Amino acid sequence: MAGQVLLHLTEHLPRKRVQTVLTAVLSEHHPTVECTAYGWPAVTNALNEFPPIWQPATILANDTDAVNSWANISKSVPTDIIPHGDIFGDWNDTSYNVASDPACWWTRSLCTTPKLAGLPPDVASVPEPDTMGYGFDDGPNCSHNAFYDYLKDQNQKATMFFIGSNVLDWPLEAMRAIDEGHEICAHTWSHHYMTGFSSPDAFAEFYYSKSRHGFSLDLINPWIFQASIKAIKLVLGVTVTCWRPPFGDVNDRIRAIAEGLGLRTIIWQYDSFDWEQATGNVTAQQVYQNYDNFIQRAENGTFSSGGSIMLTHELNNFTMQTAVSMYPQLKDAFKYVVPIGVALNKTQPYVESNYSLPSFEQYISGTITTNSSGSSGSSSSNTSSSTSSKKNAAMMLATKPDSSFFIALGLLSALMGSSLLL
Ligand SMILES: [Zn+2]
Repeated sequence: MAGQVLLHLTEHLPRKRVQTVLTAVLSEHHPTVECTAYGWPAVTNALNEFPPIWQPATILANDTDAVNSWANISKSVPTDIIPHGDIFGDWNDTSYNVASDPACWWTRSLCTTPKLAGLPPDVASVPEPDTMGYGFDDGPNCSHNAFYDYLKDQNQKATMFFIGSNVLDWPLEAMRAIDEGHEICAHTWSHHYMTGFSSPDAFAEFYYSKSRHGFSLDLINPWIFQASIKAIKLVLGVTVTCWRPPFGDVNDRIRAIAEGLGLRTIIWQYDSFDWEQATGNVTAQQVYQNYDNFIQRAENGTFSSGGSIMLTHELNNFTMQTAVSMYPQLKDAFKYVVPIGVALNKTQPYVESNYSLPSFEQYISGTITTNSSGSSGSSSSNTSSSTSSKKNAAMMLATKPDSSFFIALGLLSALMGSSLLL
C-alpha cells in the first residue's frame, strides 16, 4: 500500500509541491501540536522490519541482511571483553580494573585511544584551531522547529546525532534536518548504555538506527523510486558513517562493532550537562555556567592550537532554548562554529556519494552547503552580532496556538491518499 501511495504521489505531484507541503508541516511552533503523532506511510508500513520502537534492539530472525552482516562483522569483535553491568548503566556488580583499563572504556577512564589493534581513535576534539565542532544529541525532537528555524536564520549548520526510534517517530523532522544541510550521525536505536549489551544486540542497536536514518526529500523522486525494487530501500535516504555513544558509553568491543559498520565514534571534550537539567540534578543556572566556562576557555586561548567539542542536546525545549541563548556568545568566542564533519574536512558524510559536506575552507568562506538534499548552493555566513538575551531567546520557543499544522497535515494526508494517522 505504501508503495502504491508513494508511487501515486511521486508520479503525479511535482517535487516542489511535495516540498511546499512538508515545509508547511514543519513550520509549526506549538510543542503540543508539533508533538502530535502522525503516520508517515513509508515508515508505518515498514515497522515490522524493525525492533519495537524504543525497546532494546535484537537482530530480527527473519532479517537476512542483518543476520549476514553480523556474521561477517562478528569475526572482528573481541569475545574476551564481556558486557559491563547492564544496559541501564548499573555497574555495581562489575569488577572492571579501571586503572589498567584493558577495554579502553571511556565512561570509566575517558580513554579515547583504543587498545584493540585496527581501531581509529575516537573523535573528541577537532583539529582546526579556535573552532567549535557544533552538534546536538537525541533528536529529532518533535518540537524542534523554532530551534531549526533559528539555525537556518543564522546560516548555521550542525551535526545531529539522531536516535533511530526518534527518526521513525518523527520522520518529517528528520527530513528537515537533512534537507537543510545538517550533518546526520547515529545515536543508536533505543539510547541505552552500549557496553551493557551482548555483542549481537549491540550490533542490532547500530544496525537498526544506522540503516534507517535520514529520510530524504530527494527520495520522493520518481527516478529513484522506480529504479529500486524494495520499497523500504527507497526511503532509507543516507547511510551514516559516524555515531555517538549514549552517555559516552563505549569500549573496544563496541568500537569494533561500530568499525565493522563503518561508523566513526565521536565523543566530546566538555559537557554542558544540559541533558541533566530535566532530571533535577543540575539547575538551569549551572547549565548556563557550563556554557560560560566553555566560552571563557575559548576566549582565553585554550583552543588556539586545536578546536573543541561540547556535548549539547536537541533533547527538550530547555536544551534547545539554551543552545539558542548561548549561540551568539559561542560565535563571538570561537573563530569558527561548524559541523563536526566539516571541522574534520569530511566532505563525504554518507556512504551514498550524491551527498557532500563543504570542506572546512569552503564552509568558513561562506559555502555552508554543497550538495545536501533539496537545498544547495552557497550562502554567506551571518555576521550580524546578535545581542539577544536568554529571555528573548526563551520567547522564541513560546507557544503560539495555530491550526496551520493540522491544515498542512490534512493537505498532505489528502495528497497521499488519506494515509496519515493523526
Ligand atoms: Zn543521548
